[in-house]
Amino acid sequence: MADEKVKRKKVRRKLKSPYAWTRKWVHEGELPIEEISRLSSTYMDHLGKVLTERDAVAYWKERLTSEGFWDLDGVSGLDPGDGFFIENRGKGLLVGIAGGKDILEGANIIVSHLDSPRLDLKPRPVSGDGDTGLGMLRTHYYGGIKKYHWVNIPLCLTGKVVRTDGEVIDVSIGRKRNDPVFVIPDLLPHLSKTQNRRKLSDGIRGEELRAVAFSGPVFSDEEKDPVSRKVMSYLRRRYGISEEDLISSELCLVPAWGPREVGLDRGLIGSYGHDNRVSSFSANESLLSMRKEGKVPDRWCLSICFDKEEIGSEGPTSARSAFVELSFHRILELSGKRGTSRELSAAMSSSFALSADVKSATNPLFRSVQDPANSARLGAGLTITKYTGRGGKIGANDASAEMVSAIRRLYNEHGIVWQMQETGKVDQGGGGTVAKFLAARNMDVLDTGIPLLSMHSPFEVLSKSDLYMAYKGFSAFFLHHPVQKP
Ligand code: MN
Ligand code: MN
Repeated sequence: MADEKVKRKKVRRKLKSPYAWTRKWVHEGELPIEEISRLSSTYMDHLGKVLTERDAVAYWKERLTSEGFWDLDGVSGLDPGDGFFIENRGKGLLVGIAGGKDILEGANIIVSHLDSPRLDLKPRPVSGDGDTGLGMLRTHYYGGIKKYHWVNIPLCLTGKVVRTDGEVIDVSIGRKRNDPVFVIPDLLPHLSKTQNRRKLSDGIRGEELRAVAFSGPVFSDEEKDPVSRKVMSYLRRRYGISEEDLISSELCLVPAWGPREVGLDRGLIGSYGHDNRVSSFSANESLLSMRKEGKVPDRWCLSICFDKEEIGSEGPTSARSAFVELSFHRILELSGKRGTSRELSAAMSSSFALSADVKSATNPLFRSVQDPANSARLGAGLTITKYTGRGGKIGANDASAEMVSAIRRLYNEHGIVWQMQETGKVDQGGGGTVAKFLAARNMDVLDTGIPLLSMHSPFEVLSKSDLYMAYKGFSAFFLHHPVQKP
């Protein structure tokens, strides 16, 4: 142990890093290469299959069921160590393992979200451009994107249409290798004199995010049969969808490329949707392993995966919804409690939650937006983020020193490589997570997560070793109560 301390000190001195205090990997030999690559390939498989929150819920339900987790709806009792899940409207999910202790003593909870920024179709999406003869899809972007990222890349269309007779039509075009894709065409450089004068944030405007969806030769009858009508008649023939049906649909355009390894050493993964699938994946994967290894946790372990985080956690599938309370009620009932409001608040107040979300990593091209001493780096481990927010910590859940200490100790005791992280320089911008909505239920909540490059872009980048540390860190958190008894 003493040897290791000396070694760490030496490494730190050698690196002379101006970056945030971090408990680093000591040397290359320490990396469990096989475990990292096994976890990474399961994660990449997950990313390839899951493009939306609905996909994510379907994926997890299937995996959880096949590994012996119960849908809590059909269960009359739980024994310590039993795995279960509760679904919320196909878009949210709570995964749990029953603890040996009373639920009134609280749960160890990891909260994350399943939705990612994307381009939603408008309720009346189809537009035909009479001059060019192209059929276009109008979109309204979902979440905080840089609009110019979304042009000239292959997009796939995914989601569902619900007809008034209740029939649900699943739409998925562009995911398979031979499927056609969609594209938002930017202007050629040769004719961009006017566009080039726009500000970067205005380079592509919201109403310009329209994707080419239909072409076909130009016929002489186009006057009486405009292109929008052709698009609709195609949709009717192929899917049985009318224009009015599209009003009750949830269709979106997302990048059509799958996840790829990045860099000569393949140490990074580039993909759409790391935010925040990497956190829900790491948390759920920890619970699956715990169950597989037959470990029975002391405290109840819950991984709650929300929807609508990217638009401010609004609506019944978000972190603000009573889904949390209802789930606790259900667990109280199954534990033989009456489910009084006092019991509910006791269970929630004595819970400890990690809000697991992706974090900004230092970008070598734009270092000036961060304070090096308080910023994260790819490959330097899981972050401990005391607060998020913007402009004076507004909107942050500013965790107490006691909580940071508890998690610091937990990570140190279990060999978790971690780093301290703040979003960026003061007044440079910022963002938030679902932490504050859990904190509003009188829970102790701390932000933690994995640093990303190019967050909210169609190709976000993370480090495989950080993914591994999230999995390890969350596993340790689930099995140990982070708060030491005095
Ligand atoms: Mn997120
Ligand atoms: Mn986000």
